[in-house]
Amino acid sequence: MSQALSTDVLIVGGGIAGLWLNARLRSQGFSTLLVEHETLGGGQSVKSQGIIHGGAKYALHGTLTGASEAIADMPRRWRQALAGTGELDLAGVRLLSEAHYLWSPGTLAGNLTSFFASKAVRGRVDQVKGDQLPAALQHPKFKGKVYRLAELVVDVPSLIGRLAELAGDGLLAADAIAPLREREQIAGLIVDGREIRAQRIVLSAGRGNADLLAALALSQPAQQLRPLHMVMVKGPSLKPLYAHCLGGGPKPRITVTSHPAEDGQWVWYLGGDLAEAAGVARDEPTQIAQARKELGQLLPWVDLSAAQWATLRVERAEPAQSGLTRPDNAFLSEQGPLLVGWPTKLALAPDFADRVLAALDRDGIRPTEQPPLPALPRPNIAVPAWQEAF
Ligand code: FAD
Repeated sequence: MSQALSTDVLIVGGGIAGLWLNARLRSQGFSTLLVEHETLGGGQSVKSQGIIHGGAKYALHGTLTGASEAIADMPRRWRQALAGTGELDLAGVRLLSEAHYLWSPGTLAGNLTSFFASKAVRGRVDQVKGDQLPAALQHPKFKGKVYRLAELVVDVPSLIGRLAELAGDGLLAADAIAPLREREQIAGLIVDGREIRAQRIVLSAGRGNADLLAALALSQPAQQLRPLHMVMVKGPSLKPLYAHCLGGGPKPRITVTSHPAEDGQWVWYLGGDLAEAAGVARDEPTQIAQARKELGQLLPWVDLSAAQWATLRVERAEPAQSGLTRPDNAFLSEQGPLLVGWPTKLALAPDFADRVLAALDRDGIRPTEQPPLPALPRPNIAVPAWQEAF
């Protein structure tokens, strides 16, 4: 029979939420064990665009209120961590861009008035021109206005790699999870037949939370899935671009981020409205044709003749939301020793960890002396979609 283990905090799910929390807990002296059944970051995290939002996008449609400071503070916290002076030492993680840009292809849309007045963007947005423009927009034919947002873009695969290092020996590749009950309370989990006891159990399994809750005979918190149909384009002529291109509506018409392929070329990863409902309804060739058309209209000088195209379907997992829920906070629900949540954004992983740490502190959960962990099977780090596709 497998050896029983014990730890302060047992975490299920090795995406950004679980890995960031794990590293924070370890930095505070807690013993932790994180269970992952596929690859680290392979859910949504490595498929994300890596933008560390400060809330500017929400200010566009007025859903970011003055009271919601959590997201507005994220770029500062990430910046410190990336400099090695913050809550985690992420000094070696690759930063793809110091800024994300907001780009209006025509005249300034009316809804930008309230945007520039909002607290989340005040003092953080500067118009850029000429040689300050992102390289891909520096062309005599470019018309429109471009604003620089103080939002970082991180290379998520390298981020996941660093967080896996910070996890030390506390990662476990395992699949089957069942509750371990003692005196009618959940005392831990049985993971691939191995009993793991913990003071607290955190489910941060992204879309996997729903199945885990069902396995624990729980129906709350409810989860919602939001499908997206992203487009990837790789080409020798592509220069890095990190920008929301504004359309008429509240959502960016297209959000472009650029990711390095192993052969040195750039892959543009296209989201925004293009990838939402209408894009989800399109099959792959039609979605690619739509993306070509959009890029042809917006950036006619970019030579896409040698470009390779692919699409990626992925679902965002979030707590089921009423129309009133603000999108700018992480979500955590507590049921005795079980904590369940979603960061709702990669950028909000620090906020997710704050919420768990606050719950532990309130309940008087402190680091305890634990025997060293034995050698455990270790999950691999996910390969990015743009590496698999081309
Ligand atoms: P995940 O990354 O999905 O990780 C969950 C992990 O749990 C997975 O590794 C999975 O294998 C594991 N798991 C599941 N079930 C089990 C089980 N039973 N046992 C063990 N392990 C299990 N946010 C931003 O802030 N900026 C962006 O630019 C951005 N862009 C995005 C673009 C796209 C296309 C998408 C889909 C999302 C984007 N997001 C962005 C949102 C962001 O990616 C997510 O909010 C975040 O990655 C969620 O992290 P997570 O750790 O909760 O989930």
